[in-house]
Amino acid sequence: MADRQVDRGLSTTAIHAGESPNPLTGATAPDIVMSTTFTVDPEVSFSAENITDETPYVYTRWGNPTIDQLERKIAALEATEDATVFASGVAAANAVLFSTLNAGDHLIMSDVTYAAVSEFTNEKLPQLGIEVSRVDTSDIQNIVDALRPNTKLVYLESPANPLIRLTDVAAVTKIAHQAGALVAVDSTFATPIGFRGSSFDVDFVIQSLTKYICGHGDALGGSVAGSHADITRLRSAAIHNGGVISPFNAWLILRGATTLPVRLKAHEAGALAVSQWLEKDSRIKRVIYPGLPSHPQYELAKRQLDNFSGMLTFQTVDPGPKVARRLADNLQVIHYAVSLGHQRSLVCWIGTDDMLQSSFHLTPKQEESYRAYAGDGIFRLSVGLEDPEDLIADLDNALG
Ligand SMILES: *Cc1c(COP(=O)(O)O)cnc(C)c1O
Repeated sequence: MADRQVDRGLSTTAIHAGESPNPLTGATAPDIVMSTTFTVDPEVSFSAENITDETPYVYTRWGNPTIDQLERKIAALEATEDATVFASGVAAANAVLFSTLNAGDHLIMSDVTYAAVSEFTNEKLPQLGIEVSRVDTSDIQNIVDALRPNTKLVYLESPANPLIRLTDVAAVTKIAHQAGALVAVDSTFATPIGFRGSSFDVDFVIQSLTKYICGHGDALGGSVAGSHADITRLRSAAIHNGGVISPFNAWLILRGATTLPVRLKAHEAGALAVSQWLEKDSRIKRVIYPGLPSHPQYELAKRQLDNFSGMLTFQTVDPGPKVARRLADNLQVIHYAVSLGHQRSLVCWIGTDDMLQSSFHLTPKQEESYRAYAGDGIFRLSVGLEDPEDLIADLDNALG
């Protein structure tokens, strides 16, 4: 259970929640407990079904002190009763899908979600007898139209990767809950600093910890936060699916999470400076950043996000693949690489035709909405924590 102290600020929570000095050694930083097994009383049950909050540590796939600390910190940051962590963000998303959906159930899912999750739900879930409707969730009417009596889950990603298109989450939870469906939101781009899912009645808040929460590009992880009852169900699913995080990765992410609030402020300031510069440059056709008044959903972004985060996209006048080559060859500070949310700035080209063929199978109307945000392709820039002037100079030079 979360040891959230509601009267504390986010920065204090990020640093202290889930951690405390080791009572034996007095060490103030968390310990890494790499042990896979723990000496136990012979009376302890070895069934994953019988695990409760009081069960002592038995085996690391069931529970581990370092992983527990991370789970308590995530729950505190999300302001939920509980949270559980996984080996990756994709493992976290799959745990929500598999623990909620059975054959005969119906899933409504954003037509644009993280590519691996999209590809998996397009192919595997229908084979298992789960009906899937992919809709553009930025238009609430599409969700209303898609709801069926057997709709069990509405799965959103907001802001969606890679478009940075938002969904009005408060409107969705209201409609979905009235229809008896649960709501999951992948909030990786916003983090709990930018978007507190629990304040919007979201049932499952999913994070790829690999991104901002770790923040340093050196550990994969994922989390799901929600009610104690829902998370307990997910935890036993994790025991059976085995997508457990390494305690070492949990420890790295635990350390990264302590500076999340202060880092997000700097990511936001940097992204605002870079996006404003890009918007004025004649080589740039279009910039999408939720903190710019030019974002098509700026009003929603202001209402829903407490921090605009460090993710932006831009389109260039010259053809994207040509500019991508220039950037890869000439950038000296920004790395040409996938992933996001690290202290280092990262940029990569995401071609629209590629994405529409491999990850997203869109209707003509959905494709129109996709292209309204992405044109023929976008550069997705994750603005890191370097001096914004250096990032601007690096882009200015490399854009050619
Ligand atoms: C990266 C990412 C994921 C997947 O996380 P992994 O840790 O790479 O498995 C899921 N959703 C979003 C929005 C992401 O950016």
